[in-house]
Amino acid sequence: AFEQVARAADIPIYAVMAAFREDPSPMKLNLGFGVYRTEEGKPLLLNAVRQAEQLLVNDLSADKEYLPITGLPEFNKLSAKLIFGADSPAIKENRVSTVQCLSGSGSLRIGADFLAKHYYQHTVYLSQPTYGNHPNFFAAAGLAMKTYHYYDPKTNGLDFQGAIVLLQASGHNPTGIDPTAQQWEQIRQLMRLKRLLPFFDCAYQGFVMNMDADALPVRMFVADGGECLVAQSYSKTMGLYGERVGALSVVCKTTDVASRVESQLKLLIRPMYSNPPIHGASIVTAILKDSRYIHGVYILSALQDGREMYSRWVTELKQLTDRIATLRQQLHLALLDRGTPGDWSHITRQVGMFSLTGLNAEQVAFLIKEYHIYMSPDGRINMAGLSSKAVPYLADAIHAAVTL
Ligand code: PMP
Repeated sequence: AFEQVARAADIPIYAVMAAFREDPSPMKLNLGFGVYRTEEGKPLLLNAVRQAEQLLVNDLSADKEYLPITGLPEFNKLSAKLIFGADSPAIKENRVSTVQCLSGSGSLRIGADFLAKHYYQHTVYLSQPTYGNHPNFFAAAGLAMKTYHYYDPKTNGLDFQGAIVLLQASGHNPTGIDPTAQQWEQIRQLMRLKRLLPFFDCAYQGFVMNMDADALPVRMFVADGGECLVAQSYSKTMGLYGERVGALSVVCKTTDVASRVESQLKLLIRPMYSNPPIHGASIVTAILKDSRYIHGVYILSALQDGREMYSRWVTELKQLTDRIATLRQQLHLALLDRGTPGDWSHITRQVGMFSLTGLNAEQVAFLIKEYHIYMSPDGRINMAGLSSKAVPYLADAIHAAVTL
């Protein structure tokens, strides 16, 4: 029955990762997938997550019953509060529909399916370049795709009335470049003028500045009373990659619309996977609710004792982002030391997990072949996969690649 099934092409980033696994070189370096690694190159389980899991194990009242189709209600409330802010008018006015989804990917896909079925416009604009899986979510939902030049509001040609525009709230993948607050305001004004529908992808909240600053663009679009979609992921921010925990929120104009939207989201989810998994959402809920973080400021005692899980989490996340910033400086300095041709200051100007190095496909192939340094073909490196001790080796390799 299946003889005629054709072999599908490898998914590029997975092919790079497979090549990395098979490479016997002791010098090999994996800068492909966007996952955090310690200085020793090991995965990291956050202490806040460990603490939350212990709490869950010891909670004798906890069970493993099915969640509702829309997920854990408390998780949804807390996730909305995290991204929209505790004071969000949209939350107070009860016009946000939030559903727990399978991480950022699942949230994007459910959002795409919802738009394909219930929105009159079927074109979505993606930044050029963007995260490699973005086009797949929208293609699978049957939407048409166009690109906008990231991120110049004068030349992006967004004159397609009503189109959906996918925006990354912070830590843009793969460029590592975010608009400034003033530029976001220009984007907001232009988009509202043209009646474009914003769909925010928030996979890195807290990975650039902090929870509130990184949510600023979303909150600007919500503050004007207009509609938007928001996909949240806890993969990177809590290191919960394999737990697949995230949320989709649809900000509507009224409570009634929000509840109708939610009823339609249920219809989309039910035949797909019926209901989402409980464990990851319980971890996130335990951390987010153990908080003395009120209206954008900590109550001092909470910070001082550092025992509550929310402040423990943001403190740990800050350590990760500080370490990534240090690695950026070290790599930049190492390239300056070597007199590597070109301006490498973008490495320290870029934010979040990634750096688009500017290396071309040929140079990337050279790095893989000669130096066993793996990265995606567009020259994007995962800064969080680097270690201080590997910086000189990477700098030597980049120097060799650009002086070929
Ligand atoms: N959006 C962006 C911009 C990403 O970089 C990623 C993953 N790296 C995702 C969404 C999806 O990740 P996940 O499904 O693990 O949340």
